[in-house]
Amino acid sequence: MGYREISLQLPTDYHEDDLNGGIAKQLGIREFSYQIENKSLDARKKGNIHWLVKVLVLSDEVSGVALSLFPSLNIRHCKTNKKAVVVGSGPAGFFSAFVLQKAGIETTLIERGTEVHTRAEGIREFEKTGAFNPIANYAFGEGGAGTFSDGKLTSRSKHISKERQFILESYISAGAPEEIGYMAHPHLGSDNLRKLVKNLRDAFSAIGGRMLFETLLEDLKIENGKVIEAITSSGSMEADYFIIAPGHSAYETYRMLIKKGVRFRTKNFALGSRVEHPQRVINKAQWGRESLPGVKAAEYRLTSPGDNRLPVYTFCMCPGGIVVPAAAYHNTNIVNGMSRYRRNGTFANAACVAGIHPDRLIGREASPGQALDWVQALEEKFHRYSDGFAAPFCSIQNFIDQKESANTAESSYPLGLKAAALWELLPAEISSSIREGLREFSRKIPGFETGTIMGLESKTSAPIQVLRKKERCCIGIENLYVVGEGSGCSGGIISSGADGIKAALHIVESN
Ligand SMILES: Cc1cc2nc3c(=O)[nH]c(=O)nc-3n(C[C@H](O)[C@H](O)[C@H](O)COP(=O)(O)OP(=O)(O)OC[C@H]3O[C@@H](n4cnc5c(N)ncnc54)[C@H](O)[C@@H]3O)c2cc1C
Repeated sequence: MGYREISLQLPTDYHEDDLNGGIAKQLGIREFSYQIENKSLDARKKGNIHWLVKVLVLSDEVSGVALSLFPSLNIRHCKTNKKAVVVGSGPAGFFSAFVLQKAGIETTLIERGTEVHTRAEGIREFEKTGAFNPIANYAFGEGGAGTFSDGKLTSRSKHISKERQFILESYISAGAPEEIGYMAHPHLGSDNLRKLVKNLRDAFSAIGGRMLFETLLEDLKIENGKVIEAITSSGSMEADYFIIAPGHSAYETYRMLIKKGVRFRTKNFALGSRVEHPQRVINKAQWGRESLPGVKAAEYRLTSPGDNRLPVYTFCMCPGGIVVPAAAYHNTNIVNGMSRYRRNGTFANAACVAGIHPDRLIGREASPGQALDWVQALEEKFHRYSDGFAAPFCSIQNFIDQKESANTAESSYPLGLKAAALWELLPAEISSSIREGLREFSRKIPGFETGTIMGLESKTSAPIQVLRKKERCCIGIENLYVVGEGSGCSGGIISSGADGIKAALHIVESN
């Protein structure tokens, strides 16, 4: 029995027969099985858009040896009675807890928000009535910020291939479509994610893991450079290891960590707004037509030097998605984007942000605490402007021209839009760069300027980063690990999950 790896070009709406026929023809064989390794859309030539499919073919009629292409984690079982407390059930917290429990370390995972079903109800109510729920919203609750998202599983982080594979395998075992294992741009969709986080919770419980919802980490008791206890709203918890994975929305948790002597530094991050277009405008620009059989919706990723002072780029594009009110607190107003697996909504949206350092925004050297205060104050300013959660907006053309207008716009945003001179709500330097970026994007994507720009995007990445050793434990506090997006060392579902896993593996290796 031999293996061969081959690449095929297939029509966008190909069927399994086309794939089988392509393999048989290219290798001149009749009996075989195959595994898809990679599938990406080649849309470079609008007249010839096709899938590029890489397959591993197994047959008696070919020679060749299969490589182990996707090695996953080898989790050692520890003979120990050590305990761990993990804070936050987002990808970083959940996957670190899952690995620890699999390795035999008795793990309790606490989450300030509710379990996913109640969370979905809280979000539904918020979008219907505007009544914000502090424990069931887009930021807080089971699965973290990644649950009600597009569920894109791409990551540019290096050296995480085993962790990435473990995350994908865990999602597939929990019921995710198998294609996430080979698509070049895999995504889950918020409808799948809701079910997956519940199934993953069941898998964690089945191996003895304990998960507590509506349990807020309030404080840490630290003695002689070691955390002794986590003080939570459900009581004190003792453990040998503490992994904190709070995401980057939990301001009071950040402040508590800073107060307890966990060291952070400021770093570059990004601020801006979200742009939205009818999906057909994006499809037409990318494909030369409004729909393409066999492909859900066109994507884009754009970069620009802006006004040559701050780089501008689009981020977290959600094809066929909706813009969502992603505030973590009742008096802040921010936006983000999500979509369902089928990506069949009418609109496309993406963050359009400029990269900047907090010192530059604030105009002087800022401490980590001051950087957080500054971002939170901006989120509150947007809330005050709208007197709630409507998204301040204008057309992209008006943003470029700095021209106020009382236009209304069609949008997927559930809590209404409020006309605004958005460029005045954002910091001047950010607006100036974004304006030039939008000009350039309108040259690259015909019709881009006809879209809408709305709200505040302040969560593309954290403005601060924890000082930690390469093993991920905090400098000066040996059994405390701050991981995931809140550590400022990762961003996105995969890289945050991988960051948590690496911390867990370090704990496992030291036992
Ligand atoms: C709407 C939206 C769409 C997104 N789309 C994508 C996407 O398509 N692809 C992608 O890769 N990324 C996406 N992201 C970003 C992604 O969700 C995050 O990068 C990722 O979830 C970070 O994982 P994390 O575990 O570090 O933190 P989080 O997911 O933020 O999880 C942190 C958890 O900790 C809990 N917590 C915080 N403080 C405490 C405390 N004191 N006590 C107890 N619990 C606490 C929170 O409630 C939360 O559940 C999106 C984000 C949003 C908001």
